[in-house]
Amino acid sequence: MPMVSLIVPVYNEHATIAHSLRTILAAADSGMRVADTRRFAEQPQVRPIEGDRLELIAVDDGSGDASAEEIRRAAASDNRIRLLSFTRNFGKEAAIQAGLVHSRGDAVIVLDCDLQHPPNLIPHMVRLWREGWLVVDAVKQQRGNESLAARLYANAFYALFQRLAGLDLRGHSDFKLLDRTVVDAYLAFPERGRFFRGLIHWSCYPSAQIAFSVPDRAGGGGSQWSRIRLLRYAIDNITSFSSMPLRIVSLLGLFTLGVGGIIGAISLIQKFNGQAIGGFTTVILLLVLIGGAILSALGIIGHYLARLYDEVKARPGCVIKPLNREQP
Ligand code: UDP
Ligand code: MG
Repeated sequence: MPMVSLIVPVYNEHATIAHSLRTILAAADSGMRVADTRRFAEQPQVRPIEGDRLELIAVDDGSGDASAEEIRRAAASDNRIRLLSFTRNFGKEAAIQAGLVHSRGDAVIVLDCDLQHPPNLIPHMVRLWREGWLVVDAVKQQRGNESLAARLYANAFYALFQRLAGLDLRGHSDFKLLDRTVVDAYLAFPERGRFFRGLIHWSCYPSAQIAFSVPDRAGGGGSQWSRIRLLRYAIDNITSFSSMPLRIVSLLGLFTLGVGGIIGAISLIQKFNGQAIGGFTTVILLLVLIGGAILSALGIIGHYLARLYDEVKARPGCVIKPLNREQP
């Protein structure tokens, strides 16, 4: 009996989470039945989906509010809901990873819990999976209500990512359906610092795409990602997919060497011609320029070294709270 797992990362969403989980499950439930009955009529050899099972894994990413309690309450009234609770905030990527590790479904759907990934697309995704697609991507056609700065920021990231990593992720989101074979292959990657949507796109499995417009956040309000956190996320993702910045460091070195050679030659000629002048400003400028170039180069190398260090340490990406252990 096939099973579909829904993975929902949750961080400080106590006001809306109960309603969101109900909405997601209701959409998956009723929609899947309709979707598959229709398909059953077209292809009698495919049995209807009524017997299919659903599980919803809500991953509480160390929320500081009552999200976990809300999920526990929802799970008490619907045994298809399971709660995984982190000991602290490890980030959405870690929540997705933990959800995938604990999922049992033949297909797995990852979606946000703020209903910005419209649950009513789930039946369509499942239908495409049943038609044989291993991956179904929900692609943002409209990014919805967000500030101009956020839009520019996202565009700059995707343009840079495409240039440096060679992957066009414009419009891509974490809202995806993955077949079990894809989940198992993904989980077998030894890499720890993961960029879910980047890695799935990079894997290049046959994928169907469905477009969606991002609705407003359930309960209003804005994204939980601060600018600094987004910047760190962007740098990590770019450097995990491209070593181009390291190559740029060598180019920068060559460029500085070239400029230094020219200026050095000019100075020597001037000195031998007796035209040497007090070049205090030039010296200061050169010092600042070269110092800046060396420090940025070291920064870039340091970043890769830190990533290497993290991968070598192989520390788990998250720690899950033991079940049935209430806080003393
Ligand atoms: N989220 C999470 N950990 C975090 C931040 C966010 O699990 O540290 C969850 C959040 O609860 C939501 C999803 O990730 O389900 C997307 O977060 P958000 O809506 O803030 O981001 P955006 O819509 O801007 O992508
Ligand atoms: Mg959101």
